Amino acid sequence: MPRPRYARFAIPLPLYRVFEYTVDDPRESAAGTRYRLPFANRTRTGVLLEHCESSEIDPARVKPVLQRLDPEPVLDAHMLSLARWLADYYRQPLGEVVFLCLPSRLRGAQPHVTTRVKCWRLGDMTAEQLETLRRRSPRQFEICNALESRPSGMTAHELKQLNPNWHAAVKALEDKGLLRWQWVDAAPQAPSSGPAPRLSDEQAAILAELEPRLDRFGVHLLDGITGSGKTEIYLRLIRSRLEAGQQVIYLVPEIGLTGQLLERVRQRFGGGFEVSHSGLTDLQRYRAWDRFRRGEAGIMLGTRSSLFSQSERLGLIIVDEEHDPSYRQEDGVRYHARDVAIKRAQMLGIPVVLGSATPSLESLQNCARDTYFRYRLDRRPTRFPPPRLQLLDVRDSRLEFGMSARALALVETHLGRGGQVLVYLNRRGYAPVVMCHDCGWQALCRHCDARLTLHQSLNSLLCHHCGYRQAIPGACPECANREIRQHGVGTERLEQGLAARFAGTPVLRIDRDVAASGEALDRRLQTLRGGTPCILVGTQMIAKGHDYPAITLAVVLEADQALFSASYRASERLVQTLFQVSGRSGRGDREGEAVVQTRFPEHPLMQAVLRRSYREIAADLLRERETYGFPPFARVVMFRADAVELDEALQTLAQIRALLETTAEFGAIDCIGPMPALMTRRISRYRAQLCLIARQYRVLRAVLDEAMPAIAGIPGSARVNWTVDVDAYDL
Ligand SMILES: [Zn+2]
Ligand SMILES: [Zn+2]
Repeated sequence: MPRPRYARFAIPLPLYRVFEYTVDDPRESAAGTRYRLPFANRTRTGVLLEHCESSEIDPARVKPVLQRLDPEPVLDAHMLSLARWLADYYRQPLGEVVFLCLPSRLRGAQPHVTTRVKCWRLGDMTAEQLETLRRRSPRQFEICNALESRPSGMTAHELKQLNPNWHAAVKALEDKGLLRWQWVDAAPQAPSSGPAPRLSDEQAAILAELEPRLDRFGVHLLDGITGSGKTEIYLRLIRSRLEAGQQVIYLVPEIGLTGQLLERVRQRFGGGFEVSHSGLTDLQRYRAWDRFRRGEAGIMLGTRSSLFSQSERLGLIIVDEEHDPSYRQEDGVRYHARDVAIKRAQMLGIPVVLGSATPSLESLQNCARDTYFRYRLDRRPTRFPPPRLQLLDVRDSRLEFGMSARALALVETHLGRGGQVLVYLNRRGYAPVVMCHDCGWQALCRHCDARLTLHQSLNSLLCHHCGYRQAIPGACPECANREIRQHGVGTERLEQGLAARFAGTPVLRIDRDVAASGEALDRRLQTLRGGTPCILVGTQMIAKGHDYPAITLAVVLEADQALFSASYRASERLVQTLFQVSGRSGRGDREGEAVVQTRFPEHPLMQAVLRRSYREIAADLLRERETYGFPPFARVVMFRADAVELDEALQTLAQIRALLETTAEFGAIDCIGPMPALMTRRISRYRAQLCLIARQYRVLRAVLDEAMPAIAGIPGSARVNWTVDVDAYDL
């Protein structure tokens, strides 16, 4: 019998260490396999990282593992090295990073089994029966019709896409014996149809340049104006990778409004793709991960975490809208999915393609340094170029639910011509301020330094930071005055105002509150696709990469705040948003318009947006960043602490600073803090920060390499907790 051997395990804990156990038969245990492990007085799941000859701790105290969970490793050698790189670069605990690479269903003790899905096929049916269904039960008829053209059958997922109320109809058909089902290992592939559209000269030229470079690592930035056809280039590249027998990961910032993208991918590649995003259940995401891992689907299309999809034949990673801040994970393990994608591609020797109409300053700077290949798309294949932004000066205007009379008149004109209108307002709820005019009382969150937002649909006041919710008070809690007023406009109020003003025209609100219900979102998108006049009202979500050709007017409200933000990224974000929102307009066969309401039409940034292209403005912003020494001309690392008392948070950071100060290169970096965070109290915890900036990454890395082992020893607790954020998004 082989003697037990030591092995090191990753356990998902916020601790900078791995754990040793003994394994009975090392021949049966490979790195990447999950085990149940005794831990303190309970059991936990861990992933085996490596075997080792001897133990670093007293051998008598090393316990044996309890049970192996998987017949085969759930993470391959490449994923484990990627996890080690991520943990090392972003200074995150390895145990947490390893588990980030697994679908959440495998983070506990659930066994990893080959998933099976239920699949329905048409039974024997006479023409008479079909005719009866057509007359009496249109829903059942629709399902039979769809199954008729799919002899291999359809899964629940596909039936639901056909009709959200599929379940009752399928049950009725089963009862009549007209439908049969069975378990299958993998969802049958829908036949792919849809021929590819003709490429424009620009697109063809880019593909000709790009394709010979696909056999090796390289970062390729598609810098193309809104509506210039970047997606078509992605789809062609995917096709060529699939034909070479490889798989592709295709990242998008948000899946909510990209239903049309799914449809396009389905038309081109049939059922050979998987989708993964936070709107799916753990089981659905696990199945997507598993099918892709086994190579049954060639494409993984999804949001940030889909980057960690395992594949033996990965041939390309696409990061669409690469400038989007949602690629950064801001809680738990902190990382930037675009940057990790580039590292993963480099490790595998494969290409990564980034795309945006408004590339991040980081990526533009990498192009300037010739680190990235850059390809420009300057024309829309449709008749009209993206509209130039116009400014609506509202300094002397009275606003109705946030809109000036001139903006409302424009909306009316466009609706009258049969166009659709998009109104962008990045604020959810009904009104952001609720206050008493007699004594000045304001509705504030009891857990955060933040105002409560009035949500009429919930009939409550809601905190957007911690989710705290309370009833709308009938009178001022301070002076008992009954007249409590609300100020400012959120998407709910805007929706209501527009609906009253343009009675008979559908007003579709799309924000996080609506997106929570997939069905409500689907109904709205259906109307939008229909192409009849309607008004789309929404937050950040409606500024992202969608393509509705009937939209001819885009209106941006409340953009001024960003002009005076303390954040060094505010200008970049504002310009990106303005160009992205205006780019949603005029994508079809009618010319589009785009307007921004502002009280500061003379502000240099507003003037720039009015007269110059995104590329010209970005070049200016880059020069500014270089002058002031901000990223991408410097690197930023942020230590954060949160605690029951502010003092504890500050003390922990002071302790960290003291350790940093002992390092050889400390003098070469700028260290700011510790100081209270901008929003000091959040979710009942006081927060503080310590910021490190250096022009040279080498110096910053040397400081961290030297100090982190000691810093990692500072324990976190329920009273005070600290985290580190490398390449922090903001100061
Ligand atoms: Zn009062
Ligand atoms: Zn709160």
